[in-house]
Amino acid sequence: MDFKYAKRMTYLKASEIREILKVTEKPEVISFAGGLPAPELFPVEEIKTVSRIVLEEESARALQYTTTEGYKPLREWIANRMNSRLGTEFASKNILLTNGSQQALDLSGKVFLDEGDVVLCESPTYLAAISAFRAYGCKFIEVPTDNDGMIPDELDRILESTKRVKIIYIIPEFQNPTGRTWSLERRERLVKAAMKHQVMVVEDNPYGELRFEGESLPSVKSFDRIGCVLCLGTFSKTFCPGYRIGWVAGDKSAIDKYVLVKQGADLQCNTIAQMEIAKYLELYEIDDHINKIREVYRKRRDLTVKTMEEEFPKGVTFTRPQGGLFAWVELPADVNARDVLEKSLERNVAFVPGGSFFPNGSKENTFRINYSNMPEDRIVEGLKSLAGVLREFVQQ
Ligand code: PMP
Repeated sequence: MDFKYAKRMTYLKASEIREILKVTEKPEVISFAGGLPAPELFPVEEIKTVSRIVLEEESARALQYTTTEGYKPLREWIANRMNSRLGTEFASKNILLTNGSQQALDLSGKVFLDEGDVVLCESPTYLAAISAFRAYGCKFIEVPTDNDGMIPDELDRILESTKRVKIIYIIPEFQNPTGRTWSLERRERLVKAAMKHQVMVVEDNPYGELRFEGESLPSVKSFDRIGCVLCLGTFSKTFCPGYRIGWVAGDKSAIDKYVLVKQGADLQCNTIAQMEIAKYLELYEIDDHINKIREVYRKRRDLTVKTMEEEFPKGVTFTRPQGGLFAWVELPADVNARDVLEKSLERNVAFVPGGSFFPNGSKENTFRINYSNMPEDRIVEGLKSLAGVLREFVQQ
């Protein structure tokens, strides 16, 4: 049958990560592939308590439809949290709850992108943001990026010479996939450029709370004077991704547009999930919980970096992230990480080759390592095994 699918379906292909994750479901596989939090850290007992309380005390509300914007006490908590951590000035009316921050990415595409519009992004950038935006028929321009973020002169040059830039998409804290964090100066320069050209910035920050060392920096949004920065956040990494609760925060006029498109997408987020998270935040200290996560991930990061330093052959370089879930590995230019993956899967070790994090395709000699999901002994075992594979590809 020759069914007439929409043209956008020709832009989309299966996510490489999803395909690799299918392999990693086998228990014998040591996976550095997904971005999965450590399940042993989920606060299961507390969640049992809050779900019982919500059902006993507020079932009529919890099982009912709610507003598209979302449960107000939760939006208030989010606004206060952002204001105290990120130097923003949000109120509940500036927040729309979304089905994970992934939905906020899709809604951003729906709100801003017509076919042929341009998204500027870091090079490399988050794979599923590429998929979300691509469905709207946009083109990507990858802005050259170093350890401190986008290179400002390059960004200026691209903005001066390119028509139809609609979104600048950035992940300034412990970026997925590289683990890098933007410097203060780069944050300020980016907002200046965005204000001058009146282009929207989507500041995606799922990992900012997971800092292991060093000082937190003010958000990109904190430099915004005209409402050109939208902030995406999520409970996926600080609480549990299964709840699928994230948000987009910004000027009310922009949030109103997101509310319109969310109504068409799914009316609202799961009511009971919103209320359970709000109850958890009321009854427990989420900072204690986040400190616990940070401690575990910091140890895993230390062990990952140490093992890579000791075991990986010379000529292989990698980032040393100060937080978040990922490190980024660069191989000599002539080595293809997809070939390395094929061999390492034979030894039951998985990771994600870096090529697909570049929307226009390049740098096949890179890959991403996630260190949050595996216990310490398996991290060491897996990286040693991977080092053995790398030695087959890289001259010492
Ligand atoms: N943005 C980035 C940069 C991410 O890494 C992720 C999750 N891996 C998301 C957004 C989406 O997260 P969620 O939908 O679970 O909030």
